[in-house]
Amino acid sequence: MKTIKPHLVDTYNRHLNYLRVSITDRCNLACIYCKPDRCVPKLKHEDILSYEEILRLMDVVIPLGITKVRLTGGEPLVRKGVCDFISRLTALHGLQDVSLTTNGIFLKKKLGRIKAAGIRRLNVSLDSLDRNKYREITGFDGFQEVWEGLDMARKMGFDPIKLNVVVMRGINDNELLDFARLTFKYPYHVRFIEYMPIGVGESDHFFKYVPTSLIQDRINSFQKLIPVPRGPNDGPSQRFTFEGSLGEIGFISPMSHHFCRTCNRLRLTASGQLRPCLLSNQEIDIRGPLRSGASDQELADIFRNAALSKEAEHHLTPEHPLGKVSQMSSIGG
Ligand code: SAM
Repeated sequence: MKTIKPHLVDTYNRHLNYLRVSITDRCNLACIYCKPDRCVPKLKHEDILSYEEILRLMDVVIPLGITKVRLTGGEPLVRKGVCDFISRLTALHGLQDVSLTTNGIFLKKKLGRIKAAGIRRLNVSLDSLDRNKYREITGFDGFQEVWEGLDMARKMGFDPIKLNVVVMRGINDNELLDFARLTFKYPYHVRFIEYMPIGVGESDHFFKYVPTSLIQDRINSFQKLIPVPRGPNDGPSQRFTFEGSLGEIGFISPMSHHFCRTCNRLRLTASGQLRPCLLSNQEIDIRGPLRSGASDQELADIFRNAALSKEAEHHLTPEHPLGKVSQMSSIGG
């Protein structure tokens, strides 16, 4: 009899060991490329997976080989009880890495509890170092809060602290060198992310996209980028440093250099949909079966089938955006 592999392996032999969990579609910001409040109705409270439900799914998926979880949203830190939930998550046997992506507005207030809950690595989204521009991009005058939160996180020993910068033409692409310079003064890992044409504002997608090659050229002409050797747990970021810098520069290029071949991720949306690919609208419902009494075995099969349905690569281009069905605020980026 053929033995069924316990692990999540897709048809292209990619081993999926990384689950991104969006715990809420709510966000306290309304970034110009995301705007959860304006464009999509909020999920009803009962449509969002409870913490208990997420933990049940974790019990099912850890034996399938998931070792790494990133919490995202919406803004994960706006959900009530998040720090207690993180403590329960980090206590699960078999998870080697639990991390958080946040806009950083509540960092100062919550860092103590986040650390006590077992988080050591942070990704903080920061698209501008200019207070006014930050407000224009996010709809909120919160730059100072985020900056002070980063300062505090550094002093408390969070490491690495990654700054996610979505580069948008004519909006923040004049700040590339300012972000790069930060790494001489602080040990931050600044990661420039190509803008993805997904969700809202479709009409001007094409104009916002700046390819990594262009960003790299600009930075290289300021200071030579030195490649950092890849670590075993590295994600899609191409990593560099500068001679004498404390931090790193990374480039994430979902548009110009698909990293689909090495993609090891599955996503669980706030409403309990499994999403094999961020950039494809295919979703598999796991909330329904979960709430109608599916056994662990049945839930495990849903995860396995989601893995098997993962496509070889995404088909998103600046000219062919993903429509409104896809909302970063629910999927989590
Ligand atoms: N609220 C959290 C935050 O701000 O980090 C987590 C959710 S947010 C949707 C996750 C990440 O997705 C952020 O770094 C955000 O900048 C990025 N993101 C959202 N829309 C994007 C887009 N169209 N292209 C590239 N990155 C995007």
